Amino acid sequence: MKLCMIGTGYVGLVSGVCFSDLGNDVICVDNNKKKIENLEKGIVPIYEPGLDELVLKNYKNKRLKFSTNLKDAILKSDVIFICVGTPTKKNGNGADLSQIFGVAREISNSISKFKIIITKSTVPVTTGDEIEKIISLKVPKTLFSVVSNPEFLREGEAIRDFTYPDRVVIGTKNKKSNKILRNLYSPLISKGAEYINTSRRAAELIKYASNAFLATKISFINELANLCEKIDVNIEDISIGMGLDKRIGGRFLRAGPAYGGSCFPKDTKALTNTGDKFKTNLSIVKSVIKSNENRSSLLLKRVFDILEGKVKKKKICFLGVTFKANTDDMRDSSCLAMIPSLIKKGALINYFDPTGEKNEFTKLKNVNFSKNINIAIKDSDLIIIHTEWNDFKSINFKKVVKNKKFKIFDLRNIYSLSKMKENKIKYFSIGY
Ligand code: NAD
Repeated sequence: MKLCMIGTGYVGLVSGVCFSDLGNDVICVDNNKKKIENLEKGIVPIYEPGLDELVLKNYKNKRLKFSTNLKDAILKSDVIFICVGTPTKKNGNGADLSQIFGVAREISNSISKFKIIITKSTVPVTTGDEIEKIISLKVPKTLFSVVSNPEFLREGEAIRDFTYPDRVVIGTKNKKSNKILRNLYSPLISKGAEYINTSRRAAELIKYASNAFLATKISFINELANLCEKIDVNIEDISIGMGLDKRIGGRFLRAGPAYGGSCFPKDTKALTNTGDKFKTNLSIVKSVIKSNENRSSLLLKRVFDILEGKVKKKKICFLGVTFKANTDDMRDSSCLAMIPSLIKKGALINYFDPTGEKNEFTKLKNVNFSKNINIAIKDSDLIIIHTEWNDFKSINFKKVVKNKKFKIFDLRNIYSLSKMKENKIKYFSIGY
């Protein structure tokens, strides 16, 4: 099939590349000229395991193209995926849909034969109705169908998630579109993905409900971890004991820092905003948001306790700064709240991240990026394991760190408490 992805970010690029790998002709469009120029030179703008190879392979065999010319890409495609950003509005909790509606207006100028227009971006319930209205101002309704097909891939596992999804959700009552999309996704369905055809509004809500539920699981276990820290119980035992119940499941039940990333914080807010709009108080999601916003301050308080209140001039090393492992995405990473607060208290921060130095910290005084783990930790008073990269799972701290009184605060509970005790390392974990 001939496809076009509008917005070549985490979702548009990954799904575009994967669709081309399944044998479709795909044009990935972006209005960021530099990004497209780089992609044409084989420079992939994001860190995602396996993505570079797949881009190169499909670009070389010409099934994958990059372009800034939206009009041309729409003319050449039968199915158009909208994959632009839907960040939180500057004022308020709702999703800023200006990119979505801007693209809808552009699409409406370029339709001359039947097109399926899909929102892959995460959009609030009724956005599809709005897109339909915008396009129908210029195009007869027989020439297009607006469908919701939310994306569930996780950064860091995006290619696997796209290729082997648990489910493909298609929100449309248009039989022709449903048939075409079932066919497009048939290689994934034959590998075991459930195909769900529902209404457009239901598909839009399924995405928000899923993300809000996962965020709730994380906040739930994080709050229980706070309790465990006071009662001599290890949260890891609770996670295992709860997670083995198949009704609950063990995933997203690991205590750690505040959840971050480009989805959970903004999507939980947008969902409560939708609830308010339709006069429905989504109080559970609202309290999850509050709990998560409070989490970084709670962890900072623990850092102060670990350092016995003496933060000034203390050398603190962050291992990993992205919101999770296997991605370079810094959006809403919890260390964006933690690091500036620690500097304000006079700490000297060093950090290492496998995806390199971060623009977010270049202007901050007393924040230094180290090129490798050993250099990063060697002068530390406190090492904070912030992100669960494999690179951090077997460090010989005692050999590398010069200050023999160093401490470790492991926000991911990577290391064994008993081994740390055996090695006489002052080790603090989450939820114990
Ligand atoms: P992103 O910021 O990485 O990418 C968006 C891209 O759209 C950017 O490259 C931007 O330049 C481009 N763009 C904006 N306006 C454009 C226009 N008018 N024409 C062409 N290109 C334009 O965003 P993302 O992380 O890929 O997220 C996109 C959507 O997918 C969001 O709604 C997000 O919630 C959803 N989503 C994201 C993930 C994820 O893990 N990142 C997972 C599932 C769903």
